[in-house]
Amino acid sequence: MSTFQTLGLGEAVLQAVDAMGFVTPSEVQEKAIPILLENDTDIVALAQTGTGKTAAFGFPLIEKIDPTNKKTQGLILSPTRELCLQIATEIKNYSKFIPNLNSVAVYGGASISDQARLIKRGAQIIVATPGRMQDMINRGMVDISQINYCILDEADEMLNMGFFEDIKAILSHTPDEKSTWLFSATMPKEVSIIAKKFMSNPVEITVGTKNSSNKNVKHEYYTVTARDRYPALKRLADANPNIFSVIFCRTKRDTQSVAEKLIEDGYNAAAIHGDLSQNQRDLVMKSFRNRQIQMLVATDVAARGIDVNDITHVINYQLPDDIETYNHRSGRTGRAGKDGTSVVITTKSDARRIKSIERILKTTFEKKNVPTGKEICKIQLFNLAEKIEKTEINEEVDQYLPEINSHLEHLTKEELIKKLVTVEFTRFHNYYKKMRDIQPMDDNGRGDREPDSNDGSTRYFINVGEKDGFDWMSLKDLLKDTLNLGSDVVNRVDVKERFSFFNTPSEHAEAVLAAFEDVFLEERKVNIEVSENRGGRDRKRRSGGGGDRDRSRFSRGGGNNSRGNYRGGDRSRNSNDNGGGRDRRKRRDRY
Ligand code: AMP
Repeated sequence: MSTFQTLGLGEAVLQAVDAMGFVTPSEVQEKAIPILLENDTDIVALAQTGTGKTAAFGFPLIEKIDPTNKKTQGLILSPTRELCLQIATEIKNYSKFIPNLNSVAVYGGASISDQARLIKRGAQIIVATPGRMQDMINRGMVDISQINYCILDEADEMLNMGFFEDIKAILSHTPDEKSTWLFSATMPKEVSIIAKKFMSNPVEITVGTKNSSNKNVKHEYYTVTARDRYPALKRLADANPNIFSVIFCRTKRDTQSVAEKLIEDGYNAAAIHGDLSQNQRDLVMKSFRNRQIQMLVATDVAARGIDVNDITHVINYQLPDDIETYNHRSGRTGRAGKDGTSVVITTKSDARRIKSIERILKTTFEKKNVPTGKEICKIQLFNLAEKIEKTEINEEVDQYLPEINSHLEHLTKEELIKKLVTVEFTRFHNYYKKMRDIQPMDDNGRGDREPDSNDGSTRYFINVGEKDGFDWMSLKDLLKDTLNLGSDVVNRVDVKERFSFFNTPSEHAEAVLAAFEDVFLEERKVNIEVSENRGGRDRKRRSGGGGDRDRSRFSRGGGNNSRGNYRGGDRSRNSNDNGGGRDRRKRRDRY
């Protein structure tokens, strides 16, 4: 295995490597640095963000620059302002021990004349976004006619963002004999065109396989109904108490609304999208980098510059349209050799797209079930215990301890621990005990209606449905009232035209069947049975048997109608139930 010394770097850069705490070169560094140091060649390097590619081109570039000459010798083009600033900072770190080597960042949204002034003072390296660079060239504020090195970083992103013409125009102001180093996570056609048109015999290096995903990133997906998308997100956050994540939405509106809901629900979240001013975006990014924000909800465009280490999860709240975008999203985690998870919250319509991503990125997705309330409470409890164990004692508490001790000394150690963890645990426990769990689903979206033989619940068939004026909310309310077994016993209510299904925990099965023994809906006996078969087959069988069933179910003259409030069709008589149902729906939307 190489070391930074054996790669051929000079003393000053090695000193910087040491200062930054880099110990071993990453794969792209190991492959690119010796080539770039030894030859003045063009290179096409396929490497994901987070693999250490900035140093892969930054170290050799610094070695090759003549710091005694003030003219601009190297130009680095990067897609976004954030990335541009990040690269400029890295270059400054790399060249910390090289006197007189100056680099300047040039990007939109900041004073162009200030940037021009810095360049005029002498900037051997310019790091720029294409738009601002083009602007400065047009205004004669910069001279790149003598550069020796031009680096196109995240070339695929720059082209995605529509910078092809700018790049072409910028390159036309550079000398033909320079070396061009192109770094890209993927190799779409447009990048090949740039490589063919503007580079001569580039050496090609690939980190991992072409179009492959970062090996440090684990891919997972959760299939839910569209209605459960947000509750699933919340559960994923709760099941990962130390989450530090970017959540990708497809539109600015979704981005804003998901962030608002998370904030309302007490998470450290914020949105970043194109409707925010540059200042607002900078503030959000600063808070995110400082970890004041744990969940950053972003559009793809706004997230392009997000180069933050230690992101634990990338969450695809919705899948993007193309696989390259998915690859870029997931590349925000698993950086610098760390592990990361890329999560997709899918609905059944996305199942085929998951398969395509697997095929094209040569990766596999693990299908997961949304954590249950019980699982979340357990995770939170253990997390709390770990936090307590790892908490460094603050000696300032000493002064209060005698008084606190006098309050607590009658408790045994076991009681004290129990109480201590209960404080936090109760919050999650109280919340989740009211919540219906998100049921496992297969990729065809089946499962929410099917009993899961292992989930401890029983599914019932009941012969009332839409024809009787029920929807899932009003039926659920009425079932709950009739059963009187507690507030969260009835779930997965699925109302069909003439019949419905619902679930309760299996322990209530006998009580449920008994509760409906002599219930009538108007003149009709309400019939309830444990649904033995699953899904569609089950429903068909029931409806096919409708004639016989109806005859046996109707009881002329009515039996004991003591539970006669069972008048699903008459909404006015159930106004409380319906109102309650709606309220609950509103509340659920906010979860
Ligand atoms: P990059 O892909 O250039 O954006 O790098 C991702 C992160 O990895 C940056 O924070 C770098 O400072 C860090 N990094 C780059 N190379 C190394 C290395 N050899 N060892 C440890 N960290 C590194």
